Amino acid sequence: MRIFVDKYLAKTGTSVHPNSAVTEAVVLGLAQNLDELGRPLCPCRFYPDKKAELERSREWVCSCDEMKKHKYCHCLLFVTPEGLPITEYLPEDHEARLAYGVVKDPTPDKGRELKEK
Ligand code: SF4
Repeated sequence: MRIFVDKYLAKTGTSVHPNSAVTEAVVLGLAQNLDELGRPLCPCRFYPDKKAELERSREWVCSCDEMKKHKYCHCLLFVTPEGLPITEYLPEDHEARLAYGVVKDPTPDKGRELKEK
């Protein structure tokens, strides 16, 4: 998972959180789900049944659709150098826009591989 995270940081031009404990907790959560389920299901969400969630959709397999479309990581794994989640591409009524306001993408030429979808 660490190799994946390093590569995805470079691909998206995002940064790790300045508090390394945040990154460590998320990476361990992803690794645990990879061990248990065979896929790195996002560890920052609640699923009544993780296996059923994976059968339903790949939406929350890291990197999730929200990250690929909007460059928003609610786990704070892929953030700005200040440790804020990028919110500028989210719908205006998204909870993160209400919580963080508009956080600009410092590297708009990178990432968002599903932005057209
Ligand atoms: S929110 Fe998305 S990109 Fe961030 S850790 Fe979870 S699955 Fe990965």
